[in-house]
Amino acid sequence: SKMDIVAVVGSGLIGRSWAMVFISGGYNVKLYDNQPGQAAKAITEIRKQLDELEEAHMLRGQLKASQQHALLSSHDDLAQALEGAFFVQECVFEQLEVKQSVFRDIECLVGEDVILSSSTSCLVPSNVFSKVQNRSRCLVSHPVNPPYYVKLVELVPHPETAAVVMDTARTFMTKVGQVPVCLRKEIDGFALNRVQAAIIAESWRLVQDGIISVQDIDLVMSEGLGMRYAFIGPMETMHLNAPDGLVDYMKRYGEGIRRVLASFGPVPEFSGESAKSVVKEMYELIPNDGQHLSARIARRDQLLMSLAKLKEEH
Ligand code: NAD
Repeated sequence: SKMDIVAVVGSGLIGRSWAMVFISGGYNVKLYDNQPGQAAKAITEIRKQLDELEEAHMLRGQLKASQQHALLSSHDDLAQALEGAFFVQECVFEQLEVKQSVFRDIECLVGEDVILSSSTSCLVPSNVFSKVQNRSRCLVSHPVNPPYYVKLVELVPHPETAAVVMDTARTFMTKVGQVPVCLRKEIDGFALNRVQAAIIAESWRLVQDGIISVQDIDLVMSEGLGMRYAFIGPMETMHLNAPDGLVDYMKRYGEGIRRVLASFGPVPEFSGESAKSVVKEMYELIPNDGQHLSARIARRDQLLMSLAKLKEEH
């Protein structure tokens, strides 16, 4: 069988984004949603976005917007959507029971060697795929929002996932222009959300404890750490920050880092009395209404688009 058809199950925010990424790489995408008419609506929305991206010279891939759009089809019937696909990317609600039953349905409709991939951000593969018989072809492909500009995808194996399945998924994701990383084992939060949780926790504590303002802790990231992190990670940062590399860095700074780590406070509540002042400060900076939030989201996506362009040039 040819490996050029991908089925996307669930046509919400992430399903649409995946569809756009996959067609940009020249794959045929069959988009399914269990809400009748929803997948067709998604395709109309995607067409609009493709045209806008082309206009802005931000369209990914070698094909024109009209050519990419022609690769898409919408389906209200799951069997029809799965027909001919070598790879299934599930993007339904983040609810364990929903995902388990979706994958049980899918497995009944596809051949043994079709790869079953979940977009879940918070569920581990051994739970998501517990109702699947043949779990050697299952993995999580966790995207970062918005995947069109933020290209990382975490590939997380089920304990039974075959190595060749991880290889095929990695090759596929690379072909469509994403940047895959492979976890060797499943773990709660995967890698990205574990690191993010550490950053969130310490930022929250510093604000809650009156050490720094909400505005300034965000500047610590956006104007400080983030400047490096768009291009080099924390490991290389350390390696480059001492004359003789990583061991030298730890000789100089390791003890200080351990002292700071040992002084970290407990896991914050993130709600209730203790959270009130943090939330109030945030809402004063950016009011919590649709108008302000969508303006900031548009700004974020615009900036990410420019950064993605810059990264492409390097
Ligand atoms: P969403 O609510 O926008 O979309 C979910 C879609 O799935 C809806 O269109 C719904 O009709 C459809 N659906 C629900 N049950 C279904 C079923 N049984 N069969 C077929 N379709 C069904 O959600 P989203 O934000 O696109 O998230 C989808 C997945 O992607 C979740 O697992 C989420 O954790 C993950 N994810 C989301 C983000 C993000 O930032 N939104 C980032 C990474 C991963």
